[in-house]
Amino acid sequence: MPAITNHMPTAELQALDSAHHMHPFTNGDELAAKGARVITRAKGVYLTDSEGVEILDGMAGLWCVNIGYGRDELAEVAARQMRELPYYNTFFQTTHVPAIALASKIAELAPGDLNHVFFAAGGSEANDTNIRMVRTYWDAKGKPDKKIIISRKNAYHGSSMGSASLGGMAGMHAQGGMPIPDIHHINQPDWWAEGGDMTPEAFGLARAQELEAAIQDLGEDRVAAFIAEPVQGAGGVIVAPDSYWPEIQRICDKYEILLIADEVITGFGRTGNWFGCQTLNIRPDIMTIAKGLSSGYQPVGGSVVSDEVAKTLGGVEFNHGYTYSGHPVAAAVALENLRILEEEGIVDRVRAETAPYLAEKWHSLGDHPLVGETRIVGMMASLALTPDKASRAKFASDPGTVGYICRERCFANNLIMRHVGDRMVISPPLVITKAEIDTLIDRARRALDECHAQLRERDLLKMAS
Ligand SMILES: *Cc1c(COP(=O)(O)O)cnc(C)c1O
Repeated sequence: MPAITNHMPTAELQALDSAHHMHPFTNGDELAAKGARVITRAKGVYLTDSEGVEILDGMAGLWCVNIGYGRDELAEVAARQMRELPYYNTFFQTTHVPAIALASKIAELAPGDLNHVFFAAGGSEANDTNIRMVRTYWDAKGKPDKKIIISRKNAYHGSSMGSASLGGMAGMHAQGGMPIPDIHHINQPDWWAEGGDMTPEAFGLARAQELEAAIQDLGEDRVAAFIAEPVQGAGGVIVAPDSYWPEIQRICDKYEILLIADEVITGFGRTGNWFGCQTLNIRPDIMTIAKGLSSGYQPVGGSVVSDEVAKTLGGVEFNHGYTYSGHPVAAAVALENLRILEEEGIVDRVRAETAPYLAEKWHSLGDHPLVGETRIVGMMASLALTPDKASRAKFASDPGTVGYICRERCFANNLIMRHVGDRMVISPPLVITKAEIDTLIDRARRALDECHAQLRERDLLKMAS
């Protein structure tokens, strides 16, 4: 077989890709017919494809490349660490400096008494850890019946059996026998799609109170924890009404159930603070972290745990761990990423300058005929597409038809913006400049115009009845 390199013609790479590579969350036949776009390199906020075209990455990869692409420092650290100690485990009464240093740094950055880290290779693994950890915690407290974890419909917590069961994605639950037992889902705080005639504030309160109703229904003595993303990401960048989180916190406190904040996207500066729970004023007992922890340069994640939870688990042998928990190369790279985020003031700049600038531009898209609500927190934002703003109507076509067309128009205009159903979402690298934000908005507007023209031509502007 010839060497497969960047210099191969795109069509040959695409053919080999479809012959041998199974893509996540993809219909393989459809992709094979069309050919995947081959990404060959990246720098800053721009990707380059195998045809030499530059694409503005409005998604920071998969919500993760917070410091942007092409930072040599991380490559240097990885090479140095691989030469010194490429791998060792932390299972059998051994440890190593990268794991010690990264756990210490995370404890310093994390709010309150979240001072302990159990490492994983990503968010799914970390949430699987959380399921077992909270149940083991209640066992250790002498309350072994507290097993149920309450989550939300349309939440995303990962793709393993445990984490996808925690998640509330109907399409995922339909495949492979999910959810696992003792996971319960309440409704999400998506006012635009589900708020009906209520004000956002009344709706946010009502959705939070579903947690209280569920606890009373299931029995306080059987509920272990509530898990939620501070801002739903993969579900469509759903920002809860202001009334939601204070009520959730009140309920968790009242019934003494553990609050798990899944900060896989919202952590490490995405919302303009180090963690989303700081932006939203919540006090989790456990935070799930991954993605921005290493800016995606290495696969690493974990559970950040409060003093109280760690102390309770201290006397238990927790029969759980991953070969790559605390992997030294991943840990060293993550530490260097955190150094850059901190020393270059990237999180502060997001909060003070670039996120407010993006917010102003993003809201300006609200005057487009296709755009209903515009939502943004820090550097994650969404647009709800609608055939009629006043009534918040849905399209008559299958959900996602219009979003897909819009995403294709973005792709054609060299902008990566994702669609979730008929919502468009962005989550750009945190280092995006004001000039690059202008480019992003220009391309988004052009894509919206082209999408609108197509919908008119194809008679897809009809409202669902
Ligand atoms: C991406 C994501 C996960 C899963 O992380 P992986 O690293 O893909 O396993 C979990 N929770 C949230 C909120 C995510 O966005």
